[in-house]
Amino acid sequence: MLQGQEAHAAEMERTFIAIKPDGVQRGLIAEIVSRFERKGFKLVAIKLVVPSKEFAQKHYHDLKERPFFNGLCEFLSSGPVLAMVWEGEGVIKYGRKLIGATDPQKSEPGTIRGDLAVVVGRNIIHGSDGPETAKDEINLWFKPQELVSYTSNAEKWVYGAN
Ligand code: GDP
Ligand code: MG
Repeated sequence: MLQGQEAHAAEMERTFIAIKPDGVQRGLIAEIVSRFERKGFKLVAIKLVVPSKEFAQKHYHDLKERPFFNGLCEFLSSGPVLAMVWEGEGVIKYGRKLIGATDPQKSEPGTIRGDLAVVVGRNIIHGSDGPETAKDEINLWFKPQELVSYTSNAEKWVYGAN
């Protein structure tokens, strides 16, 4: 059985999180980044990019049959997006909890969308919805060399040594 640091390393996962153009324009970068940071998750990649519409279509390919697909892709490519990869135990699922429900009207207070957004078409943030999409989205948005592996000073305090 794995113990201590080894067990912790084995359970680490990564997720793709993006602050959409509305979140960037509303000055919510620091607020959103700080929620992931304060939780104890570790930032391993970050960049500000304006995706092309074709790129946005790739990112949202699962939704191509939906009536809002075109508007959604237009919007994502309309301005800077803050693309990030966050690492931590359970970060994929818990990242979605921090974000809240897709429709901010249904997001709980205390979540990012619950506290900071009002309508589904301007819900300020994206987060991968599972291990497979996390892998695909990280590969779509980042080159391997843009992901930084390091030991955070806080890790032993966030996870404990054993
Ligand atoms: P998410 O994983 O919570 O972001 O939700 P989905 O993967 O289902 O949808 C992706 C994004 O499409 C959402 O974050 C919304 O910005 C947008 N979206 C989803 N449903 C609707 C809708 O009914 N109307 C509009 N205008 N946008 C939607
Ligand atoms: Mg989704």
